[in-house]
Amino acid sequence: MKAILYDAIPMMKRATAGLFCLLIALASCQSPDTDQPQAAAQQPTAKADTVQQQRRPKPEYYSFKGVEKKRVYICLDESADTFHQKHDCPVLITCQSTFRNLTLARAVEAFDRYNCEMCSADLAYIFDENAVQMETGL
Ligand SMILES: [Zn+2]
Repeated sequence: MKAILYDAIPMMKRATAGLFCLLIALASCQSPDTDQPQAAAQQPTAKADTVQQQRRPKPEYYSFKGVEKKRVYICLDESADTFHQKHDCPVLITCQSTFRNLTLARAVEAFDRYNCEMCSADLAYIFDENAVQMETGL
């Protein structure tokens, strides 16, 4: 009788130890479970931040005398705010939406587009108010 009781104590100890291990396992299992939805929720927003560039406001000033009939390309993407002279411009190629060929005047006036730095840097003067002020001052 004494021997049985003596044996039962370590068994109980092992059982409690086992229970402890189980609790620890449950606790360690639970924290990734609760973290997961948060991480999943954070991922798309982080992705959207990197992909979606801030669209600039409508150009306040522009003067495209002589080049208004020039044909340019625009990407009909929500975040796109540029026009392109080259149909194979690296920026235009990344367009996730459809693109359109239209006149420079329409691209600026109807679609609020700025010149693309990659293929249309030479047209930056269209939006340069100071350059034109100097011109009219002469
Ligand atoms: Zn371009």
